[in-house]
Amino acid sequence: MQRLNDVHQLQASAGLLGWDQQVLMPAANAHARGAQLAVLSRLAHEILTSDETARLFEDAERELNDADYDSKEASMIRVAKKDYDKAVRLPSEFVAELARQTAVSHEVWAQARANNDFRAFQPTLERMVELKQQQAGYLGYSQHPYDALLGQYERDMTAAQVKAIFDEHKPPLVSLIAAVKERSDRVSDAVLHQPYDIDRQRQFALDVVAGYGFDFTRGRQDVAVHPFCSGFSRSDVRITTRFYEDFLNPSLFGMMHEAGHGMYEQGVSTEIDGTLLGSGTSLSVHESQSRMWENIVGRSRGFWNWAFPQLKALFPEQLANSDVERFYRAVNIVKPSFIRVEADEATYNLHIMLRFELEMDMVAGKVKVADLPEEWNDRFEAYLGIEPPSDALGVLQDVHWSSGLMGYFPTYALGNLLAAQYYRKAIEERPNIPDDIASGRFDTLLTWLNEKIHVHGRKFTTDELTRRITGEGIQSRYYMEYLEKKYGEIYGL
Ligand code: ZN
Repeated sequence: MQRLNDVHQLQASAGLLGWDQQVLMPAANAHARGAQLAVLSRLAHEILTSDETARLFEDAERELNDADYDSKEASMIRVAKKDYDKAVRLPSEFVAELARQTAVSHEVWAQARANNDFRAFQPTLERMVELKQQQAGYLGYSQHPYDALLGQYERDMTAAQVKAIFDEHKPPLVSLIAAVKERSDRVSDAVLHQPYDIDRQRQFALDVVAGYGFDFTRGRQDVAVHPFCSGFSRSDVRITTRFYEDFLNPSLFGMMHEAGHGMYEQGVSTEIDGTLLGSGTSLSVHESQSRMWENIVGRSRGFWNWAFPQLKALFPEQLANSDVERFYRAVNIVKPSFIRVEADEATYNLHIMLRFELEMDMVAGKVKVADLPEEWNDRFEAYLGIEPPSDALGVLQDVHWSSGLMGYFPTYALGNLLAAQYYRKAIEERPNIPDDIASGRFDTLLTWLNEKIHVHGRKFTTDELTRRITGEGIQSRYYMEYLEKKYGEIYGL
């Protein structure tokens, strides 16, 4: 346990340096920060993969023969052993090189995006794709190199499984969006695109997420180019937000989203806090929490019955001609748009399917990085019916590839599916939840999530957890039911 603890603390320290790089660090320091992160990653990796650790695992497994599957000790060894099995396949020099390249490449991407200059990013991304191909080779896979990369974020999941889930709900999703398009005149979101004072935006969003239950005595909020959440223990969970002076959504729904991630990290049981078990179990379960608070709660009619009068008090001029119903419709508009993080609930998964396909093709060498902007734009138009006017609004928009996060995108879409699946179970078990939300009480839902999901940290895989909670594996039909009901009503389908 002590040895695994050293690994965890080194990883948490690297995480803090990563947060600092995105929030506070002068951009000129990218190389020095890369060197610092490389050392920490190498040390953590060396400790985890050493012969001594292997010996301790053997002893521990013998000792824990009869321990309860759910117990802290058995879970710790089971989960850490999987981390070990993966890590031991990666040479230390490779891990350090990946960490170094990631830190450098982040700055190159940020510049390229600011200048709308894909060619400036291209060599760095080419190097990153090479590293990811190497990584897949080291980690091993049976069907597609993508399986190895996906497996880092979703233990035991394969690209073929993801593809099957995507293929299942893509046709109903496309036809729902087409049906909505026929009636697009029913909803206007003009009310959201007005001048909104940033300090007031911040205050309102902070009040909302504090009301949700994000604990600011154990967390904080800062501004960053790309909104994200980082947790270093259950008592230090940080979210970031980006603000626009003339658009309300990014700060408000972005803050709800990141707070959803944050409450998951803050809700891990104290028993496993500060250990390798002490964080969210997978990216898809993580995303189920953020999407639930952002969309299922934050875009519900009940929520706005409660919140709209407060927003109107802060922005009386902007909301003078609006009412709850019109505002509720505005925040639920379905309209194909370029930026994934600002996409509506219906088109969102199509943004992900596009990235999933491109990543698989890049990793397999079927799509060259040089051709990426064209591939992106062509497919984007085929999926969403609009073509990005610039690479900054297209292929350059996401931080992920520059950070080496390939195999990561599908987890967002899976998170949407899980959010609907978990929420459905939550209101089945606690029918008061929707009424409580409508009166500004969020603890009924948060407590349920905490008991069923948060406390367990990484003890169970996505599939284990989902079966424990809902009695079945991940499904797309609850998400489609949710969307069809909501948009059917809003758009009169
Ligand atoms: Zn998220």
